[in-house]
Amino acid sequence: MRSAGLDALLVSSPSDVRYLTGFTGSNALAIVRRRSLALVTDTRYALQSSIEARGIRRIISRDSLAEAAATARALDGLRLVGFEAQHVTYAQYRQLRRLFPRIEFRSTADIVEDVATVKDRAEVRAIRRAVAITDAVFSELLPLLKPGVTELDIAAEISYRHRRHGAARDSFEPIVVSGDRGSLPHGRATDRRIRKGELVTMDFGCVIDGYCSDLTRTIAIGRPAQEQRRAYEIVLEAQAAAIDAARPGMLGRDLDTVARIHIGRAGYGKYFNHSLGHGIGLRIHERPRISVASRDRLRPGNVITIEPGVYVPGRWGLRIEDDVLITAAGCTVLAASPKHLIII
Ligand code: ZN
Ligand code: ZN
Repeated sequence: MRSAGLDALLVSSPSDVRYLTGFTGSNALAIVRRRSLALVTDTRYALQSSIEARGIRRIISRDSLAEAAATARALDGLRLVGFEAQHVTYAQYRQLRRLFPRIEFRSTADIVEDVATVKDRAEVRAIRRAVAITDAVFSELLPLLKPGVTELDIAAEISYRHRRHGAARDSFEPIVVSGDRGSLPHGRATDRRIRKGELVTMDFGCVIDGYCSDLTRTIAIGRPAQEQRRAYEIVLEAQAAAIDAARPGMLGRDLDTVARIHIGRAGYGKYFNHSLGHGIGLRIHERPRISVASRDRLRPGNVITIEPGVYVPGRWGLRIEDDVLITAAGCTVLAASPKHLIII
């Protein structure tokens, strides 16, 4: 904020509000000034916010959050105020201009997220717990995977089992794709029945204390084809090479390159058509980005995914994804699920 010359920052992304105040409700605005912090939320959350955001000045709104901030004179005396460009609609922006005609509003990006990408011990502990639950669910899925079950059956089991293990929810809608649908990196589960001789890719995660896990495994139902076995080994090696290389100071794009070169040399370069990974935390996708163009630099305390894949359009696909913690010396893999090709 100081380097941007801001007198205050309006934070409206729910995960950023949670990071700053502890408040977990769906409708809130945090007003961050150089020396103070205020939370605006609505009457539904009056009690909850008093418990979660203890010690923070609260403004309870009956109407719009910005109107309540104006009535409480929470922005009085400020000249230059930042807002989170990715979390403010044009209508909200116009309302701010109308309510606070003397303030200059400036768009900002990732100010809170840049701080939040470095996790402290309690945050890493929460992520580890989420990862452990996802690992447990993966091992429970193996006996359920057989010809005849549908992708939706498996997706439902994932969500149910996450909660039975104590997770608040899935960190995103579970991806379960089989056979030719495996070539959709982010395909939705359907009522398609899994058949013998197919690969099944499952990408899922859960939330503990607000923090996400994110795991992908591809397994084979019956004997896979020779080219599928070969591609699996290449993706596994590419992931191992990236895990080996990941260390603080490295640029996201350089880490992406490590895996991409390996897959490219084996002739599958054009079939690896997404970025290698992303940061996780209170959000399922956050910085640092691990992509071809990413200039984000890895720092100790980042938790990122490493998830190379190969997708042959209309035929089959596979991906292996783990969450890793960047440490002072390199990185630690948090997931414990097996990574050899499991054949059922
Ligand atoms: Zn994933
Ligand atoms: Zn991911």
